Amino acid sequence: MISRIKLLKITSCLFLLTFAFGCSTPLMPKLIFKSKGKTKGVYHTVKKRETLWRIADTYNVNLKKLKRANRINDENKIKAGIKLFIPGAKKVLKVNPVKPLVKKVSLDRRIPSIKRKGFFNWPLKGRLTSRYGIRKGRKHDGIDIAAQKGSTIYAAASGKVIFSGWGPTGYGKMIIIKHKQKWVTVYAHNYKNLVKKNDRVKKGEKIALVGTTGRATGPHLHFELRDNREPVNPLNYLK
Ligand SMILES: [Zn+2]
Repeated sequence: MISRIKLLKITSCLFLLTFAFGCSTPLMPKLIFKSKGKTKGVYHTVKKRETLWRIADTYNVNLKKLKRANRINDENKIKAGIKLFIPGAKKVLKVNPVKPLVKKVSLDRRIPSIKRKGFFNWPLKGRLTSRYGIRKGRKHDGIDIAAQKGSTIYAAASGKVIFSGWGPTGYGKMIIIKHKQKWVTVYAHNYKNLVKKNDRVKKGEKIALVGTTGRATGPHLHFELRDNREPVNPLNYLK
């Protein structure tokens, strides 16, 4: 409290000085900075649909650090209009607001623990022939990418092969790779599998060749991305 009163006094003195000399001295903002301790940063005004997680991500600042700097216990309670101190930031940045929730994507609404775009690469160069979701009244747990028979299929991310062989009904020759944080990718209808169970694969490594094994009308890859066994739309993650 004492320091705040002191600060007020100094500020008002400075104000008077500024007023008296009629110039804008840079002393004022510096003083405000010092009142926050030695940490430099900027103030970000929270806008509608900005989450603390997104703000932290945009400014590349640790979420815990951001919460501590602003004495926030519950990140769900931040509201539009409040000012957040972003430690270490040099300028105010634009934060991508979260999209309003649509029922269709309810499966996918969990805050991802990995960065969305960039972790998974496209497993095959080809034509997207079927999307994820309801297809002719049936749920399609992945996407279909058509390519010539024998085209190379690549691991979407680094991981460990946990299955290589004939999959459940309809899948044909299939590979399953387990990645970080319980993420799993599935590659089905293969003509040939090039890796076996327990193999470690790198992102972009050749793992199979496109085929028509199982229930497939033409050569294509059926690709699934699962987050802790729950299928998610791969298009939201592929780069
Ligand atoms: Zn499919």
